Amino acid sequence: MNYNDIIRRFMHGHGYSRLQPLAALFDMDGTLYDSMPHHARAWMSMCEEAGFEATPMDFFMAEGRTGADTIEMLMMRSRGQHATPADVEHYYSIKSANFRRMPPVDLMPGAPQVVQACMDAGMATVLVTGSGQTSLIERLAADYPGAFALKVSAREVAHGKPSPEPYIKAMQMARVEPWQAIVVENAPLGVRSGVAAGVFTIGVATGPMPAQVLAEAGATVVFDSMPACAQAMPELLRSLMP
Ligand code: CA
Repeated sequence: MNYNDIIRRFMHGHGYSRLQPLAALFDMDGTLYDSMPHHARAWMSMCEEAGFEATPMDFFMAEGRTGADTIEMLMMRSRGQHATPADVEHYYSIKSANFRRMPPVDLMPGAPQVVQACMDAGMATVLVTGSGQTSLIERLAADYPGAFALKVSAREVAHGKPSPEPYIKAMQMARVEPWQAIVVENAPLGVRSGVAAGVFTIGVATGPMPAQVLAEAGATVVFDSMPACAQAMPELLRSLMP
């Protein structure tokens, strides 16, 4: 595939005179780990216990939001009430405990190769997640050695995705501007967050939603799977480098 047209259109659309990718900003759930089915199940059992109305698709659609934002959505919908900080802590701790009881999450096939391609190209790699799920964040060092010294998690941001804040924070951490970064994301709200931050955003459809949903959310380039992204990454990065 020839990426030059896509890159030219992206630069023109943002008024960038050049791109110089120095940092790759990676989403975690559904991107680095095949964890979304586990999360959906953990949310569903919490909802059944608490009496919130929900379907698994709600959690695929809400993917990228912080736990607090998701609990606010559930409380408003089922009870017409805002979630207090105590509600958030209570329901999120039940959801987290459900998640921890599940079998270990697998690495997303192809993701280590995508991360490695960015490292080989001399880029800093930064984690940008809405998750406060420490059990997965703690595995990163072993599963992605040397990759994610820099991390933005739910604790560091006031507004989760689709706000651009998590990606803006990540760029401040890595000391880069939007024209010096790329985003790798699997969910529509995450794609919108990267796009709103002005970053070249790679959307990878790894779950039940079609790739088209990521294109509609504004992804600069879209892949059907992480192995497809891994295969394309070296050429895409060469095209992006000046
Ligand atoms: Ca995700």
